[in-house]
Amino acid sequence: MAGELSRLCPVCGGGSFSPCLQKGTLRLVRCHSCSMVFANPVPSCFATGDYYDSEGTSYYLSPAKLESDYSPVRFERELGLFTRHCSGGPVLDVGCSSGAFLYQLKTRYSGRYDVVGTDVSGAPLDHAGSRGIRVLRGDFSGMDLAGERFAAVTFWAVLEHLPDPARFLAKAAAVLEPGGICVVLVPNMNSLAARVLGARYRYIYDQHLNYFTRRTLHRLVSGQWEVLETRSMHFNPVVIWQDWRSGGRAVANAERASLLQRTTALKQSRWIGPVKVAYRLAESMLGGLALADNLAVVLRRSQ
Ligand SMILES: [Zn+2]
Repeated sequence: MAGELSRLCPVCGGGSFSPCLQKGTLRLVRCHSCSMVFANPVPSCFATGDYYDSEGTSYYLSPAKLESDYSPVRFERELGLFTRHCSGGPVLDVGCSSGAFLYQLKTRYSGRYDVVGTDVSGAPLDHAGSRGIRVLRGDFSGMDLAGERFAAVTFWAVLEHLPDPARFLAKAAAVLEPGGICVVLVPNMNSLAARVLGARYRYIYDQHLNYFTRRTLHRLVSGQWEVLETRSMHFNPVVIWQDWRSGGRAVANAERASLLQRTTALKQSRWIGPVKVAYRLAESMLGGLALADNLAVVLRRSQ
């Protein structure tokens, strides 16, 4: 059918798979060889990135999403992980959207990091630029960086959107300084939320083309990368509650952004002290069991 892209397994390259889930127009298959779950076929607007430069823009630049992204608590876990492995130098954030991660890195650790962001979506990138972030617009995997090299390349919630994540990782490897690191965060297909909710989970939706577990994520990076650390982080019980009750109806972008905004506000409020302690404990326990919402890996290029 026109306007669709048929895929091989994004992890092992295998062409043998069986249907495993259908939700609306999204069709997921499971690879017979490595058990990776991925969307196939996919509408070409997601494959080319055109979606993110048109329909996606209103979401990424909505006041609720921007306020949540730019809140000091939004990238707390990510910043902790990142700064433990990279103490300074030039940093490239791929799929940087409105630039919030880089903004935090630049302003909180003044002078340590030299930040650059890239994205296919023009309007959020303009916003990043307005916040003083140097930005490069276009498809990172084919980008000419004129010999520029980085101490770190980051992909925060990006690889799940790409038809060929391996190509982006190979490009990251090519633009790193010797000893440089690559940090990847993706939704965790084995999370408590994904297990409890199954197809009802709001993050099983058409923008997500790849559904990683710890095992398939490690397999994707094996060979080219050494894994320095793997973490499972973030937990949003409100999402579980809402998706369970709604039975998996589609969640509009505006609603997604509004929940993010409310969750962020909650994380910053002072009066919920005991709730916060319980929440942190739950997140930390789930993280220890690799059942939290996201998986993050810190990678160094194999010698
Ligand atoms: Zn496979």
